[in-house]
Amino acid sequence: MLPERRRQYLEAIGIDLWVRRARHSDADAAMPPIAATPTTALTPPTAATPPSVERAAIVPAPAVPPEDVAAQWQRLLDEVRGCRLCPLHATRTQGVLGVGPKRADWLVIGEAPGAEEDRRGEPFVGAAGQLLDAMLRAIGLDRRTNVYIANVLKSRPPNNRDPRPEEVEACLPYLVRQIALLQPKIMLAVGRIAAQNLLGTDAPLGRLRGRVHHFGEHQTPLVVTYHPAYLLRTPADKRKAWEDLKFARSVYQQLTQGAADGHRS
Ligand code: SF4
Repeated sequence: MLPERRRQYLEAIGIDLWVRRARHSDADAAMPPIAATPTTALTPPTAATPPSVERAAIVPAPAVPPEDVAAQWQRLLDEVRGCRLCPLHATRTQGVLGVGPKRADWLVIGEAPGAEEDRRGEPFVGAAGQLLDAMLRAIGLDRRTNVYIANVLKSRPPNNRDPRPEEVEACLPYLVRQIALLQPKIMLAVGRIAAQNLLGTDAPLGRLRGRVHHFGEHQTPLVVTYHPAYLLRTPADKRKAWEDLKFARSVYQQLTQGAADGHRS
């Protein structure tokens, strides 16, 4: 990416130019090594599940024949739109499955639709979505071409309250099926709620950043960073988010370079 273009994106994110002169601040600076890789859990933190909450069927993640992929995406979309597995169906406008190319290398996962997302049927729109787009563009990603964006919950919790464990338990199988269809090379969990539910931990976000986790049957690499809505409220942490994005990009580059080297040998 041209330095001037990257500078414009960083300014859009709110990264001050002085940051770029710090030791690790330049976008092309050496990336940190991939750290230890703890195994992650598919299931969210356990909690008593009310009798009214059912559980969506988990479709395992074998290689999907290409001719079936489109049909499975459509079935998933139809199921989410008609889902009544948890009480959130009663207060949402619509289920929000996700957006982006359906074979993207990158999968960004947030918490749940907000008011604007609920209204428009697309994740990460509005101010937080604009910031996310700027963050992604700064590392060469775009939801229209090479990144898919989804949430842990497909329906909006009233008043944007935190998702309840039983809601996550009911909804997470939809995300698992999305991942099986997408087969992303790397996942970026944005925000504490997404990270904790995907990793099955109650560790604070600060302890989950800066290392590579793995998710699911295929042990997809997963990196954690801040939610853009949090960054809008706490701009001082944008610099840390920028470090996370550079780290995620370095992980992806190492993964794809390793795959290319493997093919050549
Ligand atoms: S949040 Fe998930 S499980 Fe609950 S109604 Fe929406 S789609 Fe269904």
